[in-house]
Amino acid sequence: VLHNSNMSPQRGGARARTGKPGSQTALRLSNQQRIIRSLLDQGPSTQAALSRLTGLSTATVSNIVRVLSDQGVVATAPVTRSGRRALEVSVIGTGASAVGIDLGRRHTRVVLASLDYQIIAEEAIDAGDQDAATRLDTAATILARLLVTTGRSRSSVIGVGVGIPGSIDSRTGSAAVGGIVPEWVGVDLEDIEKRLKLPAYLDNDANLGSLAEITWGPHTGTSNLIFVKIATGIGAGLILNGLQHRGHIGVTGEIGHMPIHEHGLLCRCGNRGCLETVASTRIMLELLGRSSSPARSVADILKHAEAGDRATLRVIDDAGQAVGRALATVANLINPETVVVGGPLAGLGETLLEPIRLGLRRYAVPVVADSTTVVMSSLGDKAEALGAAALVLQQPESHNFAMGSLSHAALTI
Ligand SMILES: [Zn+2]
Repeated sequence: VLHNSNMSPQRGGARARTGKPGSQTALRLSNQQRIIRSLLDQGPSTQAALSRLTGLSTATVSNIVRVLSDQGVVATAPVTRSGRRALEVSVIGTGASAVGIDLGRRHTRVVLASLDYQIIAEEAIDAGDQDAATRLDTAATILARLLVTTGRSRSSVIGVGVGIPGSIDSRTGSAAVGGIVPEWVGVDLEDIEKRLKLPAYLDNDANLGSLAEITWGPHTGTSNLIFVKIATGIGAGLILNGLQHRGHIGVTGEIGHMPIHEHGLLCRCGNRGCLETVASTRIMLELLGRSSSPARSVADILKHAEAGDRATLRVIDDAGQAVGRALATVANLINPETVVVGGPLAGLGETLLEPIRLGLRRYAVPVVADSTTVVMSSLGDKAEALGAAALVLQQPESHNFAMGSLSHAALTI
């Protein structure tokens, strides 16, 4: 274990991390990260100042700075301090990076991003029903591959954001009991950091989607935004007054369990007629399995909708209106400026947006519905992973640096 987490990222605080004795490699890596963190936090510093700030000996600092400089993570420049010559060390914008990992029900996506929000590299693979440990090991393997192909060192990574399709209970720092992801219950940050060998931050996928929209997406200036993810489950991430709404224990945006039909189907939450029993991709596929041209995957739904298949369009229409109705209740409460729809159905575009807008207009206060814009996410299936990387970049330690003038030399894919 390289790090101790004193406070969960859900609370938005900086986490103190202390190096623990370990193998030489682990120790070196941990010391390198301490120096990078210190530079991100304090800005350019002399080697003597770095030694003071990190508690590492000047010889150790000097060795690490030489290694990081060779790797292109830091730059050094001679300066004069109190009449003495010294070497000032600063982080190079495109040298350090943050990692975003999206562990969806059906896929694993890893994104490597520079500190100025450019995608350096990414990879996504299909994932089946595996336990949490296997999923994390797979993600770690992909990350290692991305680092090798881009010629980056592990020590240049300032942290990893991890998104899972379930709510995180901030009291335990793990998946909420009774949620959609039982395999993640009990898995906490320390387990994740052990597997990934990097400082980690964990959050729910819909929250990360909303964060991605206001950081990477076209909605950077939006203070009140709802990101709705329609997938196997349905969840929402809420941005209120420019900040992510975390609620009392971190379980927010459970729009999928808003009752739509009192006598509807039994939901996995134990209630009846929740939005998820009407509008999740799982129920859409189930319904369309009975039609004359059965859809076996989300890709089939998109294909059949494009071809104008009546049953498919009807199912999308019903689902969209139900989502709009649920959104109307939320909109009445928080008066959002923008609703962004994400998830694997984003390719449906207006076919799905129109019924959502109809449901919103029918059930929301007219002036609220009229002033709410409903759009598809332009980040597509990358939204959650990009949000996970943003989670790392939004940590207080990254702030000074991310705001600075950075070169945009990183390769954008
Ligand atoms: Zn439910």
